[in-house]
Amino acid sequence: MSSSLIIGAGMAGLTTARELRLQGWDVIVLDKGRGVGGRLATRRIEQARADHGAQYFSATTPAFQEVVQELLADKVIAKWEPAQPSPADTTVDQPHYIGIDGMNTVAKALAKNLTVHTSETIVSFRVDDSQWLVETESGGQYRADALLITIPAPQALALIEKSGFPITTADKSALSAIAYQPCLAVMVALHQPSTMPNAVRYDTGDIAWVADNAQKGISLGQPSITIHASADFSRTHFDDDLNAIGRQLVDQLSDLIPADNISTIQVHRWRYSLADQRHPAPFLKAEAPLTLLFGGDGFGEGNVEGAFTSGLAMANFCTADL
Ligand SMILES: Cc1cc2nc3c(=O)[nH]c(=O)nc-3n(C[C@H](O)[C@H](O)[C@H](O)COP(=O)(O)OP(=O)(O)OC[C@H]3O[C@@H](n4cnc5c(N)ncnc54)[C@H](O)[C@@H]3O)c2cc1C
Repeated sequence: MSSSLIIGAGMAGLTTARELRLQGWDVIVLDKGRGVGGRLATRRIEQARADHGAQYFSATTPAFQEVVQELLADKVIAKWEPAQPSPADTTVDQPHYIGIDGMNTVAKALAKNLTVHTSETIVSFRVDDSQWLVETESGGQYRADALLITIPAPQALALIEKSGFPITTADKSALSAIAYQPCLAVMVALHQPSTMPNAVRYDTGDIAWVADNAQKGISLGQPSITIHASADFSRTHFDDDLNAIGRQLVDQLSDLIPADNISTIQVHRWRYSLADQRHPAPFLKAEAPLTLLFGGDGFGEGNVEGAFTSGLAMANFCTADL
């Protein structure tokens, strides 16, 4: 049986893992997070829920549509039709989907029956005794025939450097060309429902996106709002004090969220949110003595569906190659 280690339990890593498992591979997924999902992220604040990473996804390819049908049948996701479509949304004609209990439940469903070790930060990898040997911060060691790295490219480059792995100049420049926008995400738990007329509002200044998680159907116990700062604002204020950022952005929405309706504000820094400069192919096969692939939303089409397509392409490559 062939074996693989997958670094990253986001959409790309879980998709690869599922597919390789189906093909009879021995698969272990490792992620530094406390749970699976990566940017498919939902946080609980008091009795409220808030999606603070990906907000929804579309499915334009037959392969992803098949998974979407499975998730719809299992009541993991639902179709979502926000009244105000994004002016920048290139998939506006396609149906949009959300996790019924938040986007993270999509990742949890995909991870079912997989071997996933969370809270495991990979600190190095190398070839040892004709296999990949991966080491984690906690002292763990994992071995496999193929190594698939699905973490954002700048983090992959840092890992390569830390490992002292001899990557070629061409592979290094392909990974270095991938770039992400940052995003400061503010989550606000409310006492009363917001006065947003629709579930979503797109802004053009410091704030790019506002979503009412109660109207979205994922925060029925207590209303909450998610605010995504624009890429420019996020870049400028990325290292500022989180409380100050939260207040500054919430104050700009006093028409929707008056001060006396705010219960708790939390802010999450996404250093890597949307991959706006991507590698053209769905993954990169690096020059290495054993199979070493890099994938994720920085490869191919980007976003949740692009991460899926990347994951699937990596799995198909492995099963054809080994
Ligand atoms: C604020 C925001 C809004 C977004 N909105 C949308 C949207 O509306 N629609 C859409 O389609 N997409 C959206 N996206 C993008 C979408 O979330 C991503 O494209 C997709 O989820 C990426 O999946 P991935 O598997 O490639 O990466 P990730 O989900 O980032 O997974 C990578 C995983 O690697 C782990 N990791 C990193 N380093 C290590 C290490 N050293 N050791 C172990 N594990 C490690 C991380 O913990 C993470 O779980 C948004 C993203 C953000 C942040």
